[in-house]
Amino acid sequence: MLTVHHLTKTFGAVLALSEVSFAVKTGEVMTVIGPSGCGKSTLLSIIAGLDTPDSGDVHWNDQSLAGAPTHERGFGLMFQDYALFPHMSAGDNVAFGLSGNDKHRTASEILERVGLAGFEKRDVQTLSGGEQQRVALARALAPRPRLLMLDEPLGALDRALREQLTGELRALLREFGQTAIYVTHDQQEAFGIADTVMVMNGGRVEQTGNPESVYRCPANEWVRRFLGPGRLIEGRVERGADGEIGISTTIGTWPLPPHEWSAPIGGEIILLLRAEGVRKK
Ligand code: ADP
Ligand code: MG
Repeated sequence: MLTVHHLTKTFGAVLALSEVSFAVKTGEVMTVIGPSGCGKSTLLSIIAGLDTPDSGDVHWNDQSLAGAPTHERGFGLMFQDYALFPHMSAGDNVAFGLSGNDKHRTASEILERVGLAGFEKRDVQTLSGGEQQRVALARALAPRPRLLMLDEPLGALDRALREQLTGELRALLREFGQTAIYVTHDQQEAFGIADTVMVMNGGRVEQTGNPESVYRCPANEWVRRFLGPGRLIEGRVERGADGEIGISTTIGTWPLPPHEWSAPIGGEIILLLRAEGVRKK
């Protein structure tokens, strides 16, 4: 399990990370979402050991990784610009980080699992963007890293392909039981792939939680705005004539979902109403 403790990193006057702490459990997929420049890539670089923090620490199973070089951390990285070796076949690209006599067989198997059966001999330069992205994923998965970090891996693809691959990536990461940190500025991707979503802003963690709770109960005004438009409606918890507890507002009385909040009768509540939550009668 990965734990990150109070990471702070500055570049001159820029505070890229400020007291960032979180944990990723084995097999968990955490997505990190936030606007460009909020510190996502800096965070991955420090976890990978490509950069050092000003303060704070990264642990694997309660052991500090301070001073451990990148190649000894057992982590995999995948970036937006795939960085495939251009003059090599898809199979050689995937086999590159492997050792042993059966590395090409392993590469073929992984290519098959990412939907590229029979692509071993293809020159990667002849592949489409989506196919190249799959080769890059196969290459990242092949050594079975104990943590895979993906930095905007679908960022260079068009929207339709991105949506399709989001679903495929989610299924693959689950199938491999792959522990992963997935960085994106795209909400659909972040919420489509995550077990846990961490929202960042200006180097700070604004909120961490499961996708539904983050979407439905933003921790603060900034997260609410970042996650899309919605109207805030003031209400009050009341017990109706039928004994049911509801939230009384200027646009009617709404049932109070029993598990989500505990509010006393008479308590003031703010409802967040999003467009997709509204149906025409
Ligand atoms: P993100 O990946 O969320 O877009 P980054 O982690 O790349 O954000 O950057 C966070 C902030 O740190 C930005 O303001 C960026 O300009 C700055 N930064 C990142 N790397 C460097 C660097 N090597 N030198 C100077 N500033 C940097
Ligand atoms: Mg980045």
